[in-house]
Amino acid sequence: MGKMKDLLIELQETPIMTPCPDCLGDGYVEYDIPRPHGPDRDVGVIDVGTEVCETCSGDGEFERLCDCGEPVTKIMGQDAEVCMECADE
Ligand SMILES: [Zn+2]
Ligand SMILES: [Zn+2]
Repeated sequence: MGKMKDLLIELQETPIMTPCPDCLGDGYVEYDIPRPHGPDRDVGVIDVGTEVCETCSGDGEFERLCDCGEPVTKIMGQDAEVCMECADE
């Protein structure tokens, strides 16, 4: 009995995490560094650098938020997009 209730509360309080669409869950993004040809280089090349993804701050995922700004929690189901309170209305 107690365990069931704990599980319920956990589902109600655990936000659904959405993989970051910008870095696809990697937490960083690649960007091009053009290195044009010049005196010390025969051919222009493009280096690839990586930087922490700004969208998710490097976490690779973030809490799914309802339109009202509250997190959508697991109790609503994996595909839910509204929080418990908004679903009640
Ligand atoms: Zn990201
Ligand atoms: Zn809401």
